[in-house]
Amino acid sequence: VKLKQGRTENLVIIGIDCLGAFQNRDYFSWVGDDSEESSKKFYTGVLSGKEAAFDGIDLSPACQVCESPIPMGADMAIGLYGMDINNQILIQAESEEGEHLMTKLKLTDGEEPASRKKTVDKLVEERTVARDNMFTETLDATDNLEKLTVYLANCVNCYNCRVACPVCYCRECVFVTGVFDHEPSQYLRWADRKGAVKMPTDTVFYHITRLAHMSTACVGCGQCSNACPNDIPVMELFRSISQNTQKAFDYTPGQSIEDKPPLSVFKEEEFEEVVGIE
Ligand code: SF4
Ligand code: SF4
Ligand code: SF4
Repeated sequence: VKLKQGRTENLVIIGIDCLGAFQNRDYFSWVGDDSEESSKKFYTGVLSGKEAAFDGIDLSPACQVCESPIPMGADMAIGLYGMDINNQILIQAESEEGEHLMTKLKLTDGEEPASRKKTVDKLVEERTVARDNMFTETLDATDNLEKLTVYLANCVNCYNCRVACPVCYCRECVFVTGVFDHEPSQYLRWADRKGAVKMPTDTVFYHITRLAHMSTACVGCGQCSNACPNDIPVMELFRSISQNTQKAFDYTPGQSIEDKPPLSVFKEEEFEEVVGIE
C-alpha cells in the first residue's frame, strides 16, 4: 500500500493478538498428525503464561524478542492475552470501518478486563529486555567488517532471505539483474589482486545493500532466518541494524498506514552531517 503496490479500498484489516510461532522445522516436528489438538495445546499453554517451551521447543528467536504482540493499525482488533478464552474474547473496533463491521456483527457489549493490560505489559517488558540483549550481542558480533564477514561466512547467496522477507518490495530486485552477473575474467582479476577469491562472491555486499534498501521497513518477523539453509541469524542482524535506521528517521514500520516510508519522503535539509553538505 505504502509503495503503491496495493490499495485499501474495500479492505477491512482484522488484527489478532499474536501468540508467536515456531520456526518451520520445529513446527513440523512438534505438530505431529493432529494439528487441531496441537493448536489447542499451544493456545492454552501460551495464554496460561506458564509454558515457555513446548516439549523442549521454544518460540522462534524473532518471537522471543517481539515487543509488538498486539495488533496496531487494524480496523478491528481481536484480543486474546489476559482473556479467559473459553468464555470470551475481546473484539474492538479501531476505525470507522471497524465500527461499521461491529454494528453488523451485533456482538454483546463488554469491558476490557484489567487482567489484559497487566498481561500484555508484563509480556512486552520481558520481550523488550530480551530484545535489547539480542541487540547488544549481535552488534558486538558484527561491529566491524572482519566480524561481519565471519558472521556471514556461511552465506551461499541463495537469496532465500530476500524472497521470504515480506518487506523486500521490488518487482525486480537488483540482485537478479545483470549487475551481479560477473564475467568469468572478473573473478580471475579479483583472485589475482587478493591472492584468492571466496565463492560465492558479493555475500557481505548483498546483505549490506539489502540493509540499505529496506532496514527502515524491517518488522523483525524472522522469516529471513527461517528461510536460511545455513542457519545464519539474519533476523538478529537486520533487527539490530534496523533499530538505528528506524530511530534516525523516527519511523516504526507496521505502526500506521498513514506514516510514509522514510526513503519516499526525501528532505533536502536532513542528515547534512552525513552527506557532508551544508
Ligand atoms: S526480520 Fe526483517 S529482514 Fe527478516 S524477513 Fe522479517 S522484515 Fe525481512
Ligand atoms: S534487496 Fe533491495 S532491490 Fe532486492 S527486493 Fe530487497 S529492497 Fe528490492
Ligand atoms: S538465506 Fe542464508 S544463505 Fe541464503 S542468502 Fe540469506 S543469509 Fe545467505
